[in-house]
Amino acid sequence: MTIQWFPGHMAKAKREVTEKLKLIDIVFELVDARIPISSRNPLIDEIVANKPRIMLLNKADMADPDVTKQWIDFFAAQQIEALPIDSQSGTGVKQIVAVAKERLRPKFEKMMAKGIKRPRAMRALIVGIPNVGKSTLINRLAGKHIAKTGDTPGVTKAQQWIKVGKELELLDTPGILWPKFEDEEVGLKLATTGAIKDTILNLQDVAVYALRFLAIYYPDRLKERYVLSHIPEDIVQLFDEIGKKRGCLAAGGVVDYDKVAELVLRDIRTEKLGRLSFDRP
Ligand code: GDP
Repeated sequence: MTIQWFPGHMAKAKREVTEKLKLIDIVFELVDARIPISSRNPLIDEIVANKPRIMLLNKADMADPDVTKQWIDFFAAQQIEALPIDSQSGTGVKQIVAVAKERLRPKFEKMMAKGIKRPRAMRALIVGIPNVGKSTLINRLAGKHIAKTGDTPGVTKAQQWIKVGKELELLDTPGILWPKFEDEEVGLKLATTGAIKDTILNLQDVAVYALRFLAIYYPDRLKERYVLSHIPEDIVQLFDEIGKKRGCLAAGGVVDYDKVAELVLRDIRTEKLGRLSFDRP
């Protein structure tokens, strides 16, 4: 489901997240490890303000592991703790509770110093743009399939808590915020990774962007996947070569550029070119 982010919807989303923040101790900011900047909400610092926050680099299984390491260092230098996770398989997910506990230790120690003997569970909210994996992570943390997948913006209902072991409680509905899509390159990266629907941007534009990116950062994988002896400078020529090699042809044997675009994007999203990262520190 695609959310249409109009100013009114953005204001409403911000208001809903702000309301939820009152109920929780810590925010889990979910981003896509392949595009940890492009998949952030542009106002996240302002919206989350002073709440403790952990950044979760989700879909780390699809991201270039070397680049993910660079991102973790990059964020650490900004005092942002970032954890690579794979919500689908569960890799790294156990770490979240431990890191949150460490992060909230001062707060809970203060509570205990005031005479509260048994500290309550930490309360957390998952926040992120659509398709970043919020529902998948909630399901994974909950240990059973209770959270709905897909987004239902604008549906207000009573808040439910999901118990994650004894130490953590999670709001069952994540905070959904919008991406920074007014930046053209961000939009292209979101489309390349499949975070936004192909119908929003022109498929060929997205594939041109993706192929140019691959030619610069992953030339060997591009050559290997499409059996190219060299990568032509001219993008039309590159489309032609891939199209001919992979049989993306229209009537009369001419290369069908839409088919090439579809093929390349499908290959990227299904990891046929390996683990790729499109944002670089
Ligand atoms: P939401 O809109 O943020 O709730 O995102 P969803 O939880 O619906 O996930 C969007 C898509 O990403 C789904 O197809 C998930 O299966 C997939 N997904 C979520 N987390 C991961 C992950 O860690 N690794 C991979 N490979 N796919 C994931």
